[in-house]
Amino acid sequence: MTDTSVDVLLTPFAAKLQQLADQQLIRVLRAAETGTAPHQRVRSGGHHDPEKSQELLMFCANDYLGLAAHPDLAAALIEGVKLYGAGSGASHLVSGHSVAHEALEAALAAWVQPQIPDAEALFFCTGYMANLALLSALADEHTEIFSEALNHASLIDGIRLARQKGAQVQRYPHLDLTTLAEQLQQSKARVKLIVTDAVFSMDGELAPLANLLALAEQHQAWLIVDDAHGFGVVGPNGQGTLAHFGCSSQRLILVGTLGKAAGVSGAFVAAHPTLIQFLIQTARPYIFTTAAPPAVAHALLTSLQLMQDERGQARRDQLALLQNQWQTGLRDLLLRRPTLGWTLIDSPTPIQALVIGDNAAALALAAGLERRGIRVPAIRPPTVPAGTARLRVTFSGSHTPADVAQLLNALEAEAPAFL
Ligand SMILES: *Cc1c(COP(=O)(O)O)cnc(C)c1O
Repeated sequence: MTDTSVDVLLTPFAAKLQQLADQQLIRVLRAAETGTAPHQRVRSGGHHDPEKSQELLMFCANDYLGLAAHPDLAAALIEGVKLYGAGSGASHLVSGHSVAHEALEAALAAWVQPQIPDAEALFFCTGYMANLALLSALADEHTEIFSEALNHASLIDGIRLARQKGAQVQRYPHLDLTTLAEQLQQSKARVKLIVTDAVFSMDGELAPLANLLALAEQHQAWLIVDDAHGFGVVGPNGQGTLAHFGCSSQRLILVGTLGKAAGVSGAFVAAHPTLIQFLIQTARPYIFTTAAPPAVAHALLTSLQLMQDERGQARRDQLALLQNQWQTGLRDLLLRRPTLGWTLIDSPTPIQALVIGDNAAALALAAGLERRGIRVPAIRPPTVPAGTARLRVTFSGSHTPADVAQLLNALEAEAPAFL
């Protein structure tokens, strides 16, 4: 009897899962048996047939500098555990805040000084939480938010919380600063927040941050920039996308993540000290969660050093080399095979999107690459606009030219012969 009643409880969820399956939208978790690296041993099935595993050449991680498996970072994490143990024990405001968190926040604040003079930084467990915290804390019924159409899900969810607190929300079309300017012009809100990704995660394009900052200045607004994919990678010395555009202003609020190029985990918000104090006092996703382990903060200090010194620069140089090899190789392929109808989106970042168009064709291509031992994710609507299904290739500073050559050769071999 009990079983039957649980079946009844499960019915609505089972039905929705079936809908996803009918639309071929079920995604499969696959466990890696080795650390994050270009060549990784990955189990093939879902959790139902975990036995088989295969070494794949991966072009899908956000570990842009290849630091996730760096021995110095691993050593720093171990050192942090020896110094502080495994856990923080409490939220930051209770007793979970440690000197390791404080040292990391000071180093992050120093990092962003050229872009946000006098800024302080606040460390979060994840970028998702940082965005929820920031947007939900800053917003109230006097707030109007101006949100770029292709913003990351964590910004969108933060904006949903802001809406619950009474904020007005305008969405402006992708890169459409004319519409944004009109929306700002019409706003009577006391607090105006322009919110944008710095590097759009599905195509690697940069947001025009200098123009956005000029609009923010003109309309007395804040500019919130999520540089998850640019921090440590884009701009002189990997300083970030704000530095790439030469932006500097106290009206900037920067979100950076520390699980991508920085190779560990976590995120930060950098802003004027008054705003940071305001977040500490009022941001619920900051206040009501256990602080990240101090050892993580300790390891991140080493990561910031790695990213800023010649080792980080060597990896950024390597990335530039690989991107150039990829773009040259692919343009050559597209010239020889114009009927393929594939388009490479122009991106100065390690995110390189090859638009295939049709969903099934993109999936078939990804599957073909995988049979050749190469993993590149196919991204389909609704994540990207209809008709622009694509392969999303990401490079890491620890890929080699031989890896990129293997990818280019496999793509050529998998390109439909009749086109
Ligand atoms: C990955 C990402 C996040 C979330 O960061 P996590 O630390 O992974 O939670 C936020 N914003 C953008 C634009 C991202 O790409």
